[in-house]
Amino acid sequence: MFVSPPCLVTISYRLLFVALILVILPNEICGGARTPFFDLTAYSDWPQFEDYIKGVAHDNPSFVQLKQIGKSREGRPLLGLKIGKPSKDGKRKIASWLDGGNHAREWPAFHVAVYFIEKLVNGYLIDDKITKYVDTLDIYVFPILNPDGFVYSRTSTRAMIRQWRKNRAPENCTGTGVFQTDVCCVGVDLNRNYDIGFSQSSYPFNNPCSDEFQGPYPFSEPESRAVRDFIMSSEIYGRLYALVSMHTHGQLWILPYNYQKRTYPQDFKDLETLANRAAEKVYAYRETKYRVGTAADLLGTATGGATDWIKKNTPTKYVYVLELPPDMKTWFAFQVKPHWLIPIGKETWIGIEVILDQVIEETKDFKPTESTADSTADIRSPRFRQL
Ligand SMILES: [Zn+2]
Repeated sequence: MFVSPPCLVTISYRLLFVALILVILPNEICGGARTPFFDLTAYSDWPQFEDYIKGVAHDNPSFVQLKQIGKSREGRPLLGLKIGKPSKDGKRKIASWLDGGNHAREWPAFHVAVYFIEKLVNGYLIDDKITKYVDTLDIYVFPILNPDGFVYSRTSTRAMIRQWRKNRAPENCTGTGVFQTDVCCVGVDLNRNYDIGFSQSSYPFNNPCSDEFQGPYPFSEPESRAVRDFIMSSEIYGRLYALVSMHTHGQLWILPYNYQKRTYPQDFKDLETLANRAAEKVYAYRETKYRVGTAADLLGTATGGATDWIKKNTPTKYVYVLELPPDMKTWFAFQVKPHWLIPIGKETWIGIEVILDQVIEETKDFKPTESTADSTADIRSPRFRQL
């Protein structure tokens, strides 16, 4: 059919108009926000994580905020995202927390945290379940709580470096080795540095040359202090209802407490019941079998753990550590082949959904009286504790 030149002009103007609308309209109105590219089929380095986290916040200002809770020993930012559409009336929302842990070599956990960000941000206003999470909750995601250790572990394939676990605290020369004393060693195990069950005499946690060195005193490290201070801050204290910290490996759904055997919080049954439900759902997906219990009972005691301290010192109810695949049969399998990252992300998310659904169910009658301008005094009210 013959199309006159003026008509062609009209068509191109229309195309231009449509293109402009697509660019100008907020992403979510057009059906789904977008995240910067992050390759989850390979292991990425710290700069990619940093750019990605900042990029997600930058590109989705209507429901994602960048959170820097502190700096590492070497000055790297401790970065995360607050994913949650602000409530229409400006009231405080219930919050949940997902992190990739604080052990340098446990790369899959960091990447699975990115998978969660992808899921939440790209699914918003597309997937009903995700939309409900983002509208109802504030979900904080912190992919890496030990960037210095991670960067160091990426610098060499030598086992001593690739399998680095601690942060990069300066040398402490009170270490012991085989038939040696006063040995100098670098680093503190951030997951032994919290003030719970901390004892100067507990071996090997008191040995700076141990992989599990607890540090010279509780909260000696800026990374653990940053988490403590943020957890206790008026921004989330009293409204944080669930926290899941991911590690590798072992396929364990770890409950508090772990600083000594057969020691449990009052509501342990609730935590255990929910963890069992989540583990069953994960198993149904591709038969990844998680064991549920305290690490103290299943493996052995570990003092100074982040989640133990959080459960003991805050009203946050559901507090877990997930030891991601593979199971414990393989020795030193902290870094699965990267083609497993997405399958592990998918199945782990199924478990996270169980947690988030329960959070929403249990807190649906929560009637916050606070505006987003936080007040520590009021959010510590008994009202929340009764939920
Ligand atoms: Zn770990």
